[in-house]
Amino acid sequence: MVSQNNLKGKNEESIAVKTVISSLKKTIQQVYKKELPLDHLVFLYTAAAGILMSIFGLGYNMVMGLGIFMLPILILYLVTTLSSVLYSVVTQRWYGAAVIVLGSSTFLLVPFLWFTIGGATGPTSALMLTCGLCIAIVFKGAVRNIMLAVEAILLVVFVALEYHFPDIIIHYPDRTAHYSDLAFGLTMSLIVNSILAFTVMAEYARVRDEKMCLACRLERLSLTDALTGLYNRRFLSASIDEEMRRAYDTGSQLTLCILDLDHFKGINDTYGHDYGDNVLVNVAQIMNASLTEGEIFGRYGGEEFVVLFPGKTPTEALPVVRVLGDRMRTHAWSHGKPVTISGGLSGYVRGISYSNFIEAADKNLYRAKREGRDRIIYR
Ligand code: GH3
Ligand code: MG
Ligand code: MG
Repeated sequence: MVSQNNLKGKNEESIAVKTVISSLKKTIQQVYKKELPLDHLVFLYTAAAGILMSIFGLGYNMVMGLGIFMLPILILYLVTTLSSVLYSVVTQRWYGAAVIVLGSSTFLLVPFLWFTIGGATGPTSALMLTCGLCIAIVFKGAVRNIMLAVEAILLVVFVALEYHFPDIIIHYPDRTAHYSDLAFGLTMSLIVNSILAFTVMAEYARVRDEKMCLACRLERLSLTDALTGLYNRRFLSASIDEEMRRAYDTGSQLTLCILDLDHFKGINDTYGHDYGDNVLVNVAQIMNASLTEGEIFGRYGGEEFVVLFPGKTPTEALPVVRVLGDRMRTHAWSHGKPVTISGGLSGYVRGISYSNFIEAADKNLYRAKREGRDRIIYR
């Protein structure tokens, strides 16, 4: 019975150890792959720095034979920090652990070091600033404000205490010990502060890039047609408006062309809607191949397309659209019959309204339809 209980206990122990190890591995991977949010990451950095610092302090204490009075604080800090980190790693709940770790660093370890290593003129004063930086990054709202306020009060109190009672500080035995410690402590502080600032800046840059990328993608999605990849009606309407304004302001030429596939309903009915979609995609490819960057074109809706020719008169634009119509007809359509397109042009006249400009092209399009389709008309 006893040995069975022992066995059960050992099994549970090994399961717990395995859980801790796998959680630790997972967290290290998350840190490495930059998957953790900035506040969580800085908490882990701070905890790691605190653990290293207290181990270093313990070692230094033993090597230098400084006596046992520092040991309880260092050991208490080390145990608290290690257990909080392990708790946060296993449970994935880190905020409470961060309050304990940063709280004990700022209000226990660093103040203790302040009084034992040189006071305001020792390296610990720089560490107080680093603690404030960590608190500002890791916490939010009331927790952050209260911790920073308490730290500020502590700083003033410590300096005042040192001023009025210089002997409560354990001073350095000589100038060499003081200044070598100062050089070491300040350099370490600089390194830690730089890592913190660098981490914050890198995160800021990442979020900014992600936002810009998302905004570009959203803009592209909102302005293009999902089936053909051409500009959509929203973009074309805005472009017509903009180009009309430019033509008005500069007196330059502008031509609008509206194109409509002939008997497209018949293609859908005979070969299916999917084939109809495929025809629309092919039309987009033919347009991309036939028109230049100076022309603004897209799918205006259904089987209707629009081409804007900034700087061109209808007479200059007509041959370009006719070549497009020829390519449509002669394209090797997989159903073995030509697909044709009809189009109507309108030329910008100074002062014409948006709707009249469109209507003029539309009228010519319907003339093209009436006159037998497969033609481009500008009267
Ligand atoms: P017309 O020569 O007079 O223009 O005749 P039409 O058949 O082309 O014109 P109609 O307006 O009668 O039909 C247009 C068809 O276009 C009907 C509609 O189902 C089809 N259509 C509109 N959008 C799409 C689409 O995204 N995919 C497919 N496959 N068909 C579409
Ligand atoms: Mg139509
Ligand atoms: Mg049509």
